[in-house]
Order: sequence, then structure tokens, then C-alpha cells
Amino acid sequence: MTMPTRIRAARSVAVLALCAASCMAWGQTVKITPLGSNTGELCGRDRAMVIEDPSGLRLLYDPGQTLTGANDARVGKIDVILVSHAHGDHIGDRTLKAVGTGACDNAETVANFATMAGEIAAARNSALVVMQQMGLFLGRKIETLRGKPTGACPEKAGEVTTPLAAPCLATTHTGGTRKFRMPNAANAVEITMVTAAHDNTIPRELLHEGTRKLLDADNMSLTLGPPSGYVVRFSNGLVAYLSGDTGMHAEMKSVVGDYYKANLMVLNLGATAVTMQEAAHIANDLVRPASVIATHVNETATVNGKLRPGSRTAEFTALVTARPVYPAISGKTLEFNGAGACVAGCD
Ligand SMILES: [Zn+2]
Repeated sequence: MTMPTRIRAARSVAVLALCAASCMAWGQTVKITPLGSNTGELCGRDRAMVIEDPSGLRLLYDPGQTLTGANDARVGKIDVILVSHAHGDHIGDRTLKAVGTGACDNAETVANFATMAGEIAAARNSALVVMQQMGLFLGRKIETLRGKPTGACPEKAGEVTTPLAAPCLATTHTGGTRKFRMPNAANAVEITMVTAAHDNTIPRELLHEGTRKLLDADNMSLTLGPPSGYVVRFSNGLVAYLSGDTGMHAEMKSVVGDYYKANLMVLNLGATAVTMQEAAHIANDLVRPASVIATHVNETATVNGKLRPGSRTAEFTALVTARPVYPAISGKTLEFNGAGACVAGCD
């Protein structure tokens, strides 16, 4: 071995050693499984997603109206629940009667006064990462189900260790971050609340009669603080932006794109929030992630698992450039590496 070769070899050993911990994490994947009304399709009411960190920590994002209850076999262990806002299609004011297969338009639901977020938190001992007022409201729903008050999540050195022994509240405000870590995990999962430009009114049907009657007199509603989106930094380096319901706003670029450098975006395509041109601008020019998942489509977006020509979702997909768009197909798990590239389930 000549001298320069030996130096080069030594250098690569050093680089490999430096890289060992972080590069190993980089290659691990975050698994995202949408749980909609109809397996194999992206249907109008679909919102819920289970997101699993490589450490085994499992999040449920916006339970909504497409789960059959706390015992929905698709849900499993849930350490943390994220609820972007109080609207019924996110907090879960209805329960799906049964998971369908095939066509989107036959999902039947029944009213759920306890809320799906509350029901699952109570049954799975989940932490709720929500705005303060949302936490107070959901905490009471959980208390009613369990017969015990819902406390704040136990924190040590700024982190919550999961799994938890009881449901708990990890509330914060816009810009606030909560950290969760599985025992022995090298890195915590960090969840930051970010701005959403929307509304946060609780459906009156979820309020007790006394409150409802007071509001009825003046035809008013209750708003539980501001709505939110989330930036979640996973232990493999993936930075996911979960938009919540929102119109286009400047912080998508300055905060989510430039500062947090989100490399995966789960974008809600509600027609009262964005046009498909605006949604594409969010992807192409504001957030600029490596990959996009399209959800909250309020239409039958797929037929036999393929984008329906003429759908808004197909229009959005065609307008997004330089990055793939994956429709959030119910029951289909997409796996993302630390760089935001889909490495399994992406066909
Ligand atoms: Zn919505």
C-alpha cells in the first residue's frame, strides 16, 4: 500500500465511523398507512393515517370519520394522537360502520359524541399533541370515558417516554415542540405545531345540551383556539409536514420549507381551502419537499386504486413538478427514508 492510499483508507474508516449512527438511521424507514373508508382507494372523507417511526413509536394523525372505533383492527398501538383542528372530519364526530372495499360512495357512519380522537386515546393510552383548548375539550371527553381526570403527559428532561400508562395531554401553542421517545431509541420524535390558515369550530353536536342551548339562541359556535398543522422530525431524519386544513400562506415557505426543510409533505386538498393551482404552488415553490402525499380530497380520487381522470387530485398531481405525488390509498403502506424518498409501497 502506497502512502497516499493508506491515508485515503484511514480517512474512509474515519468517515464510516462518523457516519455509523446517523447513516444507519437515515436508511431506516418511516411507515405511513392511510386508514380510509374503503381499502385500496382514496375516498372523499379519508383523513386518518398511522405513522410509524423506525423506533416503533406510532402516531395517529386526524382520526376523522373513517375508523370503526378504538378496536378498529387497522389502528393497533397508538402512542401519540395529532388532531389538527376540531372539525368533525378531523376530531372524529362519526364512526364508520364497516370498512368497505371498492367504490367510495357507500360508507355509512354513526354519530360519536365521545369523538374518535378521545375514544382511541382512552383505549390506547395515547398522548394528545394538540392546541391548549383542544386538549381541555378532549381531556374531558377522555375523562368521561374512563371516569378519571386526564392529566398532563409525564415529562423528563423535556421528553415523554412512550408507551404511556394512561392517556395524557401534551398541549402546546403554535411554534411549540413536544418530544417523544421509545425506551432505548437513539433519537426522539419531535413534533412542532405550525400555522394553519383555517377555522377551529367544534361541531355543536359534540357539546352537552346546556352549552348547545346557550349557543343556539344566537346561532353561534365555539372555536377551540387556532387550528394547526404539524412538522414531525422522525428518528431517521425524515421531516414531515402535515398541513392540516389550510389555505396557502407565507409560512409554508419561510417556516416549513426554509427553516424546517420538510422533505415530505402530506397535503390536504379541501376545495374550500385551496385550488389545485395553489396546492401545486405550495409543493413546487413554497415547501419544496422530496415527496408529496395527497389526502383530504373530498372526492372519489381513485378507481381500482388508480387516479380517476378528471379528478381534482389528478389535476394536482399533473401540476406538481420535480417530485412524486402519492395518493393516500387506504391500507397501503408507504415507506420513506430520511431524505423523504419513498422506498417501498410506492408503485
Ligand atoms: Zn377537513
